[in-house]
Amino acid sequence: MIAKNKASRWRRKARTYKKISLPALLSGLVTISVLMTLTIMFISSYTTQKQSLIDNTLSLNYSSAAQMSQTLDSLFQSMQNSLKYAADYFPQKDYSDTKKLDSTLELIQRSSNYFNSVALVDDKGVVRSISPYSGLSVGVQVSSDAAKKAMELKAPYISEAYQTPRTKRRNVFVSEPIFDAAGQFKGTIGGNIYLQENNILNLSFGSQLRTSNGSYFFIVDAKGTLLFHPDTKRIGEDISKNEIVQKLLDNQTGKEQYKNLAGIDSLAGYQKVPATDWGVVVVSPTQTVYDQLNEHIRMLLLYTSVPFLILTLIVIRVARKLASPFVYLADLVNQVDQGKVDLPTMKPHWNREADLLTRTVLGALVNFRKQTDQLTYDARTDVLTGMTNRRTFEEVIQQWIDEQTPFSIIVLDIDRFKSINDTYGHHAGDEVLKHIAGLIRLAVRPQDVSSRFGGEEFVVLLRHTGAETAYQIAEFIRVSVEESIMPIDRSVTISAGIAEYPLHSSSATELFHLADTALYQAKEEGRNRTVTIQTVERL
Ligand code: GH3
Ligand code: MG
Ligand code: MG
Repeated sequence: MIAKNKASRWRRKARTYKKISLPALLSGLVTISVLMTLTIMFISSYTTQKQSLIDNTLSLNYSSAAQMSQTLDSLFQSMQNSLKYAADYFPQKDYSDTKKLDSTLELIQRSSNYFNSVALVDDKGVVRSISPYSGLSVGVQVSSDAAKKAMELKAPYISEAYQTPRTKRRNVFVSEPIFDAAGQFKGTIGGNIYLQENNILNLSFGSQLRTSNGSYFFIVDAKGTLLFHPDTKRIGEDISKNEIVQKLLDNQTGKEQYKNLAGIDSLAGYQKVPATDWGVVVVSPTQTVYDQLNEHIRMLLLYTSVPFLILTLIVIRVARKLASPFVYLADLVNQVDQGKVDLPTMKPHWNREADLLTRTVLGALVNFRKQTDQLTYDARTDVLTGMTNRRTFEEVIQQWIDEQTPFSIIVLDIDRFKSINDTYGHHAGDEVLKHIAGLIRLAVRPQDVSSRFGGEEFVVLLRHTGAETAYQIAEFIRVSVEESIMPIDRSVTISAGIAEYPLHSSSATELFHLADTALYQAKEEGRNRTVTIQTVERL
C-alpha cells in the first residue's frame, strides 16, 4: 500500500515537472510575440533611421562646406581688396623713407587680422619693408617661388601652400602688384598666412574645427595639399589621393560616403572656393551616425521594456487566474478520489471554458458521489429488512473493539421460524422478518447498531452498555415481539443470547460465539427467553 502510494505520488510529481504550465505557456507566447514585434520594429527603425541619419549628415556637411566656401571666398576677396588698397597707396610714396614705409606696412598688417606678415617688395625683387619687422629680411632679394611668381605675374596672386625656404614655415602668399601713375610696375605688396600658426583661418573657422559629434573640416589647395586641418601637424601634407580631394581637383562639389586615407568610413560634404580654387571638406565619421543610432535603439528599448514588463505581468496574472480552476478541479478530484472532502458548491468562473469545465466536473463528481454512496449503502444494507447487514456488523464490532468502546451484544433468533415458512409460505415469512426487524429498530438507541445477521437471526450492538442493561433491552424486544400483532394470524416469539465486551471476551469472534452459545442455551431452556452468557457459566 505504502509502495503504491509512493509510486503514484512519484508519477504525479513527474507529470507536474514534465508538463508545461498554462501561465508559463501564455507568458512564453506573449514574450515571443512581443520580442518578435520589437525585433521587427527595431530592425525597420534601425534601417530607416540609419539611412535618414546618413542623408541628414551628408546634407548638413554639404551645406556647411558651402557656407564655409562662401565665407572663405569673401574673406580672400576682402584680403585682396585690402592689399589692393595698400598697393594703390604706395606709388605716391617714396620707398626711400624706410621709417614711413615700415609704419605704413605695420598699420596695414595690424589693422586687419588677415595676414601673419605683410611685405613690400620693389620692382627688383628686393624686400623693402616687412611687418612684423624682421631685420634679416629687409634689403634681401626675395627667395620664395611664390614671391618670384608674383613678381613675374605683375597681377593679383594667391599662391598654393608651400614651405618658406628660410624659416621653413607652411605658408600661403597673397599679393597685389603696385603700379605708378604711369602704369609702370613698381613691385608687389604681399601678405603671408602661416598655416600652422594662429592665422585668419583659425580665427574665422577655429570654433567650427571639431564638433561634439566628431565632425571636422579641412581645406586643401588646388594641388591637394592640406592648408587647414584640426591636426596642425598634417598641414602641408599632400592628400591628393583622397577620393574626395580628387573630386575637388576635378572641380566637382557634392556629398558622399567614402573611406578616408586612414580607411575610416566617413560622410563628407565638399565645395570649391572660387577665389582661391581651394576645396573645403566637412567630414563626419560614419561611426557617429551609428553611435546616434545605438543611442536611439537604447532609448527605444528603454521605453518599450516598461510596457512589455507590465504586459508580461498582466499576462502571468491572467494566465494564473485562467489556470486556477484547472488546478482547483485537479485537487478536488484528487481529494474526492481519496474520499477526503465534501463537494463544494459551484462558483461561476469568468472564463467560459473554465466555467463549463468546472460545471461538468462538479456535475460528474456529484453523480460519482451519488453512485458510490448507493453502492456503499447497498454493500452495507440488508435488502429485505433495510437493516445493516452482517458485513457492517463485523466492521462495527471490530471497530468498537479497536477503540476499546465497551458494549454488549445481543444475538436474536426467531423461534420455530421454519414452521412459519412451512405454514404461511415464504412470502409471509419475509413479512414476519421485516416486522420483527422494525420492532428491534424501535427498541434501540441511535448510537446502537442492529443488523440482520442472516436467515432469521439478528444481532444488536449496544454501545456503552453492560450485560444487565442489555438483558433488559433484549427482554423489551422479546416481549414486544411476543405481544405484537404479526402479519400472520398467530404470535411469534424470539430467543436472545447476550455477551459483554470486554467483560466476557476481548475478541469479536469469541464474543459472538459466547452470545450465540447463550442463545442456544435459551433455545434449550424452552425458547422465548433471554440468556446472558454469565448465566451459562454459572450454571
Ligand atoms: P429454531 O426455533 O430452533 O430456531 O427453529 P427454526 O425453525 O427457526 O430454525 P431452523 O434453522 O431450522 O429454520 C430456519 C428457517 O428460516 C429455515 C429457512 O427456510 C428460514 N429462512 C431463512 N432465511 C429466510 C428468509 O429470508 N425468508 C424466509 N421466509 N425464510 C427464511
Ligand atoms: Mg436460526
Ligand atoms: Mg429460529
